Amino acid sequence: MSTIPRCPDCETEMEKGFVPDNTFLGALQTVWHPGDPESADRSVFGMKLKNRTQTVHVDESGTRKITTYRCPTCGLLRSYAE
Ligand SMILES: [Zn+2]
Repeated sequence: MSTIPRCPDCETEMEKGFVPDNTFLGALQTVWHPGDPESADRSVFGMKLKNRTQTVHVDESGTRKITTYRCPTCGLLRSYAE
């Protein structure tokens, strides 16, 4: 987004940022994914694991990185997946 959005409540210019997605490998930028989430089938060395953490299958071709703007006055967050 080339123009900085303004808070719809305060009309203050919002601050650009992102919401980190913490994984055991480090933090990633959260992405938007089209469609309904589908549970991922995970297997390690041919043994199927129970999907206790409810991980979902991700097709990276359709994902978009999410940029989140924050209002410095009221704290409202507004996200865009461009
Ligand atoms: Zn605000």
